[in-house]
Amino acid sequence: MKLIKRWFDLELHTKILIGLILGIILGFILGPTAKALKPFGSLFIRLIRMVIIPLVFSSLVVGAASIGDPKSLGRIGGKTIAFYLVTTAFAVIIGLLMGNILQPGVNLNMDVGQVTMQAKEPPALSETLLNIVPKNPIMALQQGNMLQIIVFSLVLGVTLTLIGDKGKPVLEFFDSLAETMYKMTAMVMELAPYGVLALIASVVGSFGLSVLLPLIKVIIAVYIGCLIHWLITYGGAIKFFSQLKITEFFKGISSAQIFAFSTCSSSGTLPVTTKCCRENLGASDKITSFVLPLGATVNMDGTALYQGVCALFVAQVYGLDLSIAQQLVVVLTATLASIGTAGVPSAGLIMLTLTLKSVGLPLEGVALIAGIDRILDMARTVTNITGDSAATVIVGSSEDEIDLEVANNKVVNT
Ligand code: ASP
Repeated sequence: MKLIKRWFDLELHTKILIGLILGIILGFILGPTAKALKPFGSLFIRLIRMVIIPLVFSSLVVGAASIGDPKSLGRIGGKTIAFYLVTTAFAVIIGLLMGNILQPGVNLNMDVGQVTMQAKEPPALSETLLNIVPKNPIMALQQGNMLQIIVFSLVLGVTLTLIGDKGKPVLEFFDSLAETMYKMTAMVMELAPYGVLALIASVVGSFGLSVLLPLIKVIIAVYIGCLIHWLITYGGAIKFFSQLKITEFFKGISSAQIFAFSTCSSSGTLPVTTKCCRENLGASDKITSFVLPLGATVNMDGTALYQGVCALFVAQVYGLDLSIAQQLVVVLTATLASIGTAGVPSAGLIMLTLTLKSVGLPLEGVALIAGIDRILDMARTVTNITGDSAATVIVGSSEDEIDLEVANNKVVNT
């Protein structure tokens, strides 16, 4: 009885961490039978996904209206996109360095079998850009097309301020809806410790050592690369461009990181990332409502880093050399491929074909990695949402939109 009371007295983020640890242990003990727990995890993912579209739509309309003039909107947009592009290119470079240093594919005899892979064709640039503007905003909402929703919400928010008093009732409606969705996120998050436990147990249970061991070097290269990227790229940027303590940053987003780790979906993690950035890092709604949904759609540093490692891994397995010029092509393609990667499980694996193709590597290489992709996906998804959160802090600090009282002396809420 006492134990149950103590459990409920714990802070939510501690309970989520305990859920993660117990999930790992349970996965090891139960093995493949742990899969039976998966439906509980899936239920939790569905609940949190239910929040995403109304949350992004309402908070972004209110956010755009509070930014007001299109000029400052453009400034915030410019800084965000610049941060996303530069850090993503850094991520691929770190991935390539890890691949060069650890040489995960050298002396590896792997049977690729008879797989034929089709390279993912990049869409034409003009088409991609045009597609950002929705022909029908209701359809964009219905399909969950994040970029189109972002564009429509921004335009709607700005227009509402232009019509003055007449826009107020609609703005109040969205304001109230946004608050409701924040509260709904908080309610769903109460289930997070159990959802995380179920998800992680079923993943750990389904991986035997025989699958993991031959590729252990790839796993190490991706995990260490991600860690380096967090500490050097994000840590450095936070140190130089904000007043936030790096330890507080990581503490503040830990729940979102655990959530991303267990769900492998940065889009699915969006409500949690938003909650952490608002409540633990003191970021204003104005910043979070824009920077985070955009990041969950286009900023995938973990995916980019992984593509750097995997390009070299595949080259090494096939005994091919990648020249410096070819590695530069990888930096460029992996950056673009990561932008086009959807924030859902395994999306990065499919986009890897694009990067391999750009330097003439055999696409069948994807099959070598597919067996352990979930393990790699966990690290890259955490990195993806960490990058979005770092951008929130950096852009927020430059706009004076971070409450340092909250950020540096906070009580962690989730
Ligand atoms: N699962 C990743 C994410 O949701 C994308 C990827 O597969 O690289 O961010």
